[in-house]
Amino acid sequence: MHNEKREKVVVIGGGFAGINLCKRLDKKKYEIALIDRNNFHCFPPLFYQIASSGLVESNICFPFRRELKRMRDVSYHMGHVKNIDLEKKEVTTSYETIPYDKLVIAAGATNNYFGMDHLPEETFGIKTVAEAAHTRDEILDRLERGALCKDPERRKQLLSFLVVGGGPSGVEIAGALGEMKKYILKKEYPELSPDDVTITLVEGAPTILGAMSEKSRNNALKELKELMVNVRLNTVLKSYEDKYVTFADGHKEYYETLIWTAGVKGEPMPGIPAEYIGRGNRIVTDGFNRVKGLEDVFAIGDIALVQTDATPNGHPQMAQPAIQEARNLAKNLNAGEFKSEFKYKDKGSMATIGKNRAVADLPGLSFSGWFAWMIWLFIHLISILGMRNKLSVLMNWFWNYLFYSTSLRLLLRPTKYPLRRHWGD
Ligand SMILES: Cc1cc2nc3c(=O)[nH]c(=O)nc-3n(C[C@H](O)[C@H](O)[C@H](O)COP(=O)(O)OP(=O)(O)OC[C@H]3O[C@@H](n4cnc5c(N)ncnc54)[C@H](O)[C@@H]3O)c2cc1C
Repeated sequence: MHNEKREKVVVIGGGFAGINLCKRLDKKKYEIALIDRNNFHCFPPLFYQIASSGLVESNICFPFRRELKRMRDVSYHMGHVKNIDLEKKEVTTSYETIPYDKLVIAAGATNNYFGMDHLPEETFGIKTVAEAAHTRDEILDRLERGALCKDPERRKQLLSFLVVGGGPSGVEIAGALGEMKKYILKKEYPELSPDDVTITLVEGAPTILGAMSEKSRNNALKELKELMVNVRLNTVLKSYEDKYVTFADGHKEYYETLIWTAGVKGEPMPGIPAEYIGRGNRIVTDGFNRVKGLEDVFAIGDIALVQTDATPNGHPQMAQPAIQEARNLAKNLNAGEFKSEFKYKDKGSMATIGKNRAVADLPGLSFSGWFAWMIWLFIHLISILGMRNKLSVLMNWFWNYLFYSTSLRLLLRPTKYPLRRHWGD
């Protein structure tokens, strides 16, 4: 039996931060409502594999209702947050209004187009599982159309891919496209030659993987080159219109498909006044993840800018800070007092460029190649929720490793009007 005076905690977002908080909060002390616009928890580090047909959505997504069954007393509320009323202590979603005693915002981050408002319409992304699936469809569509095209110039246009952003996501999707060009074309698209396909990765900074060691950056560059990806550093995109990219130096180039991985910003949270928002649209908190200046409101994960004297720019927008902040906040909330200040334990970072090709910076150690790739596979596999998902990912990877082929290159399109627009109707 629960004590009658349980406080109600509303958690916005069931990503790495939100789900870990829900798991660890004391259910005898708190009644918990989890709001998420998707009915599943997912694993963003493998979104690029959805986009490149290495995995399917259900391999790396996990329905909340299944996970929450294990976490008794957490109720799931599907909905997009439309407003937070800080006075009334209520969150309004697309479908309902939910009162809270304590509010934890864990809504993550979204694409940042740096004010280029036309880009969301014109470009593809891998920031959500839905975006990654849309990107996969685009890639498959262009391959098929390229295979049908008799005009060599137009064929090259159809098969020109630009990845913008040289962080881990950009490097991973560019590497996956490179593998497709180097190994998959000749097996599955006999009409096409690798020379028909252009894959370019542009990065505004003088280096890719800016947060990693110089050794890892150089190794990643070498691996991308081997996979026939053109990498251009110090190259900034200014606009993309009618399939023409204009770069900062004024020159224009045609790219049929532009995949945007160049930046993120905190997910907008209507109702949180601008004075509580800091750099990168993140909600500013103290070292205990309490939103500075607000009672009973907390922020964790990518959306939180944990600003202390030691961390004026917060922590990296990565899985580990999100998980660790969630665990620390749960510890403080369960204790009923804020004694434990958050301290980030950096466990290192990794990026994979393709089969047997990865780079890893672990504390005190930097390595690359097959061993880094095996470690990368292992860490990602154990981090995915659910045994069924782990086994299906392992099976797909194993098959892909042996044959460079998966049966996942499916282009699913509705045939019913008005969704027939894909067919040019
Ligand atoms: C393609 C990609 C690759 C990445 N690779 C790595 C990697 O290799 N290693 C690493 O450490 N990190 C990686 N990251 C970053 C990592 O995924 C994030 O740091 C982590 O997911 C942050 O966790 P979070 O809980 O703060 O946010 P998320 O995991 O993004 O969860 C936010 C949740 O909030 C929900 N939500 C958002 N807005 C609303 C709203 N308005 N209403 C309702 N629900 C909402 C979303 O549906 C989502 O479920 C990658 C991210 C991406 C996109």
